[in-house]
Amino acid sequence: MSDSLSVAVIGAGPAGLSAALWLKQLGYTPFVLEAADAPGGILRFNFLANEWVLGHHGLTGVAMSERFVAHAEALAIAIECGRTVHRLVPIPQGWRLFLADDTPRHAAAVIVATGLRYRGPEAVATVAGMGELTEGEVAYGPFAFRDLEQCQGKTVLIVGGGDNAFENAKMIAELGGHALILCRSQPRAQRQLREAAARFADRVRVVAQAALRAVCREAGKLVAHWQTVSDKTEAATVDRLHFLIGYAPNSEWLVAALGDAATALARDAAGYLITDRWGRTPLLRLYAAGDLVERDFPNVVSALASGARAAKAVDIDLGAR
Ligand SMILES: Cc1cc2nc3c(=O)[nH]c(=O)nc-3n(C[C@H](O)[C@H](O)[C@H](O)COP(=O)(O)OP(=O)(O)OC[C@H]3O[C@@H](n4cnc5c(N)ncnc54)[C@H](O)[C@@H]3O)c2cc1C
Repeated sequence: MSDSLSVAVIGAGPAGLSAALWLKQLGYTPFVLEAADAPGGILRFNFLANEWVLGHHGLTGVAMSERFVAHAEALAIAIECGRTVHRLVPIPQGWRLFLADDTPRHAAAVIVATGLRYRGPEAVATVAGMGELTEGEVAYGPFAFRDLEQCQGKTVLIVGGGDNAFENAKMIAELGGHALILCRSQPRAQRQLREAAARFADRVRVVAQAALRAVCREAGKLVAHWQTVSDKTEAATVDRLHFLIGYAPNSEWLVAALGDAATALARDAAGYLITDRWGRTPLLRLYAAGDLVERDFPNVVSALASGARAAKAVDIDLGAR
């Protein structure tokens, strides 16, 4: 393999796989490094039908991710799972990557597409009693949408006020369960989701400007306690807790891997990478794509497009070398 044609893609979600596909078609030799034990990205945990991607009618996110991976594999694109880069060093010919086992790899360019992670137990560590909950009593992020049938006839406390929280409440109500949405500020879910939840007024209750403080067992029942804006403490008996409290960009690892060179990297206050419209970071031959650069509108179609765009930018820049 000619080193000048070798391009590293970090992250095997829709953006990374799309970048690799375009690189391959443009005559490069992409290799994809994925930290998880399987490729496909966060879509692997989208258990619902995803009707937002033209031409993929009727597929769940899981099935769609399998289709993306199968396409890359059919073109013999190398995807290595369980691989993380712990050092990324600029060299005159591009980048030297050091993987966790310290194996150095060379790439003429690097496209970073490491997406977002859902906020999990670490984000609610200050809520008393969380450690006492059993696996079946709590779910975070995408896992709040898995096996929802088990919420039939149950009461679920949903922490969060965005689209995911309201969609989750609506689905639980449709299944004959009850949802209690607890949001720290005012609900910010899109109008149609708030209206849909409101149609189930007898099954969905929204408590705004309240913070969950503790979960405990009282007479064998799970009881959630929260504090309201007027400093009152309220409580309810629940069967399950779903935390839909947002996502954070996976960019810290890049800052650590770049060391001193990271000072040139541009990130916003939340950690999203800032690039030009082609996905170029301020560092030469380092590009970013997908949710990692998409604060406003993360979705599969945009991720596919930005991966393609970053690949094309690599071609433009390397072609001009
Ligand atoms: C529950 C849920 C439902 C959704 N529903 C829809 C929907 O209906 N329609 C829609 O269009 N979009 C939906 N989305 C959003 C969509 O899934 C994302 O916008 C899309 O997956 C983003 O692709 P990506 O490649 O940028 O990131 P990701 O899919 O997040 O992929 C990033 C990859 O990078 C890997 N990674 C992270 N850190 C490292 C590291 N240091 N080294 C190597 N690899 C790393 C991750 O393991 C992951 O595989 C949904 C998302 C979720 C969570």
